Amino acid sequence: MSMATLVDIPFDKRHTCWFCGEPSNLSFEYPAQPPTPHPSLTVPACKECLQLARKHRLTSIWDCRMAVKDDLLRLYAKHLAIGINWTPEELAESEFSCKILSGFRENAWMMYEIARDRVNAPGWPLSLDGVLLDDHGYTAGFSFDGLDFRSVNAAINHYGNSLSLDKDLLAKLLGLLGRERFGHAVRLCRMHIGVSQEMKRRLLQDIAEELASD
Ligand SMILES: [Zn+2]
Repeated sequence: MSMATLVDIPFDKRHTCWFCGEPSNLSFEYPAQPPTPHPSLTVPACKECLQLARKHRLTSIWDCRMAVKDDLLRLYAKHLAIGINWTPEELAESEFSCKILSGFRENAWMMYEIARDRVNAPGWPLSLDGVLLDDHGYTAGFSFDGLDFRSVNAAINHYGNSLSLDKDLLAKLLGLLGRERFGHAVRLCRMHIGVSQEMKRRLLQDIAEELASD
């Protein structure tokens, strides 16, 4: 049985993915850790966003959502690039033969619009049993060490790449420690570069136990 309450769903958003706005009949459960700024909760999700969200629980449902969008952007980069190259007006004025153009319109342009709308889908403000959740600024980007990032996921990618850290380990540590302790999580990762998966698993377990005993 699920422990995580389903968020309130506006009438016009029933059967809609909270992440991307596509039709959905699945749901994504976000179990709260001690530093998570909201209770455990469940949001409706489409199949693809559900899989992406499970990889990026991070420090809140809002961080998770930004990371899903980052993945959608990456996965659909080719489709999205069509919009950079052509506007519908340019397409209409272009000298493509009708056959080429209509094929392009029906397929590529439609793929572009679907991908664009999924990345841009705003979702809706989260509330549980009618009580709006305060996002504590989690949707407004993330700053660390004088650098401003679009999201905590962007910060993970930046430090993961520049310091050759295990991004998955960093993300999991942040889930346990909270984004306020980003520097601590980075230091722990630096101390565990190149160690075995088993040691990383033990590190996460030790930290979870330590936090539970506080
Ligand atoms: Zn989705």
